Amino acid sequence: MTAFQGKVPPIWLEPSVYQALGKHLASVLPHEACGVLLGAAAAGGMRIDTYVPMRNVAPDPLHAFVPHPADWISALYLSPPPVGLFHSHPRAAPQPSSSDLRGLTGLGDHFAVYLIGAPGAEPASPLLLNGYGIQRTRTEEGVLSVSLIQANLQVLLK
Ligand SMILES: [Zn+2]
Repeated sequence: MTAFQGKVPPIWLEPSVYQALGKHLASVLPHEACGVLLGAAAAGGMRIDTYVPMRNVAPDPLHAFVPHPADWISALYLSPPPVGLFHSHPRAAPQPSSSDLRGLTGLGDHFAVYLIGAPGAEPASPLLLNGYGIQRTRTEEGVLSVSLIQANLQVLLK
């Protein structure tokens, strides 16, 4: 993985976004939370300044997330469009699952950042958060392959 790290833009979160992610995650437990991230490329990385929560309408919201169609459509019509997607793993480590990886091809090209959160073990750190860059490559046959590369994630100081 080290060989990739120079290529993956770091992800910077506004403190208000970090707080909003933790709040949304906690408020829908034990269900998975999901939402989109707004921001822009900045200084060689991606800076996230807004979180827009979405309702999770998955048939099994304990183990999956499916954004409410109305929330998803209105998110996609935001201008500028979202640059990232967030969801939570209430009972597992904040690492991509196989269904997370399968879902990547459904994301538009403007999605560059993928965040996964999990509840922290201690009140002092209520949110465990991992950040990934969304990498798209095409095979010689023209088939799109989308993968996640772990990125350096930092919460900006107030
Ligand atoms: Zn997941």
